[in-house]
Amino acid sequence: MPHPLPDALSSWSEAPRVRRMNERAIRPEGRYVLCWLQQALRARDNPVIDAGVRLGNDLGLPVLVYHGLREDYPYASDRLHRFILGASRDLARECRERGIACVQHVDRADRREKGLVYRLAADSAAVMVEDQPTFVARWQSERVAARIDRAMLAVNAACLVPPAILGDDIGSTTAFRRRHQPLRGDWLVAADWTAKVAAYDGPLPFTSDRLDVCTDADLDRFVAAAAIDHALPLSPMFPAGRDGALVMLERMMDEVLPTYATTRNDATQAVGASMLSPYLHFGVIGPREVMAAVEAAIAPAASKEKFADELLTWREWFHYQALTLPAPERYDRISEWARETLAAHAGDPRPEVETLDALLHGETRDETWNACQRQFLIDGWMHNNLRMYWGKRIIAMTPDPEIAWATACYLNDRLSLDGRDPSTYGNIAASFGGGSPGREGPAIYGKVPTRSDGSTRHRPGGPAWLAAAATRPRQTLVVPDGLPTALYLSGEPLV
Ligand SMILES: Cc1cc2nc3c(=O)[nH]c(=O)nc-3n(C[C@H](O)[C@H](O)[C@H](O)COP(=O)(O)OP(=O)(O)OC[C@H]3O[C@@H](n4cnc5c(N)ncnc54)[C@H](O)[C@@H]3O)c2cc1C
Repeated sequence: MPHPLPDALSSWSEAPRVRRMNERAIRPEGRYVLCWLQQALRARDNPVIDAGVRLGNDLGLPVLVYHGLREDYPYASDRLHRFILGASRDLARECRERGIACVQHVDRADRREKGLVYRLAADSAAVMVEDQPTFVARWQSERVAARIDRAMLAVNAACLVPPAILGDDIGSTTAFRRRHQPLRGDWLVAADWTAKVAAYDGPLPFTSDRLDVCTDADLDRFVAAAAIDHALPLSPMFPAGRDGALVMLERMMDEVLPTYATTRNDATQAVGASMLSPYLHFGVIGPREVMAAVEAAIAPAASKEKFADELLTWREWFHYQALTLPAPERYDRISEWARETLAAHAGDPRPEVETLDALLHGETRDETWNACQRQFLIDGWMHNNLRMYWGKRIIAMTPDPEIAWATACYLNDRLSLDGRDPSTYGNIAASFGGGSPGREGPAIYGKVPTRSDGSTRHRPGGPAWLAAAATRPRQTLVVPDGLPTALYLSGEPLV
């Protein structure tokens, strides 16, 4: 008999967010309910913590929030590490304000903690984890769920509307929007649960790094001590942590939303887009909080609707899609017709092929592509309109379609703060052939529609903007000998 959800969770209004990851029992004799966070790095309106608090209250146990940062995740760099540490510090501070204990470990040469999550789980009644459908968070939680001897429950913290209530039969964005839109109102109000049990202060199998009391200089020291890519610097555009997210939210309300419907596609505008995606990716802010700000903003209805469509239709559609795919990162996720037409053209002459070095550094023969890539390289983010050109053009700039896919995922994942996300692979898949086939087109692309750079180049000032953007001073990164493609190619096992 499969174990049902515990009553404390099945009776919860947010129950559709929760699913069992294994069939093991809850152990009420545990010391705490463990909330193991990997990416949803916020303490408020975090359904993983709220589910843990509900279960803990029912069992008479406290919640223990744990976040660990390893050095060996793919593409670990100063840029990603520092952004994550800033978010983790604020997570711990806000947990403390909520009366919940939060412990952290940052792996480094003089302090490694092998198997820490297993040791923490061994003292728990149950483990709550976020339901992330891509990359490390997915692989790790699946591995741990299979190995521990107690219940592990996954909770969706990324989406406004829990994907589980949408059914499993939606095949297009249009159908998704139709089903998703009428449900949104039901999920807009968050209710943090108050822990009835005092914050956990019992024994631990390690000494926590206590990021909550760390200064910026302390966090910088953690980064410096880690065996990671130190050549990729922090992004000056995206300060880490809750303050960074809240500044961006305010900017969105005051400067972006008033004209969003008309300026969102203009990459030359400094305030055309919200730049919230890094904070959403790492869960520093959730869609519910963003939507509350949208509702409160003074802006035309058309702008609010457009923004809600991007945040709720497009973002949540790619989460929904990824949840149904065994490996959303792999080339074989793109539509069959696109794989067929790209394979039929794989042998076409490719005079525009570039080296990985030129691609990574934005030093190709294509000025517009360089302008796009330098945003990834320097800012750790790229404007949506540029991403659409970048994702199409890379098909002609690489030796074959599967290498093109792996290269696009690699550049996006290594450099962009919002990479490694369901939106990463979903959007690249859309560039490689989302929707329906077009008419047989030029060499290399076959029936995959192409895209020009006209939406930027033909704007007033567009050519000058592109020329400047393509030559921004940049750093030099280490280029791997071979493309690290194993994650992305068809049929390759995941790490
Ligand atoms: C080839 C390609 C790769 C992409 N890679 C990523 C990625 O790695 N991570 C990522 O979060 N987005 C990705 N996107 C989607 C989109 O470009 C970014 O979400 C957006 O540019 C982020 O900037 P913003 O926060 O200013 O967006 P805004 O225009 O302000 O939109 C608000 C929010 O809506 C969501 N959103 C907007 N557009 C999309 C979209 N097309 N798909 C899904 N969600 C969307 C994002 O969460 C975004 O933060 C990619 C798009 C393309 C074409």
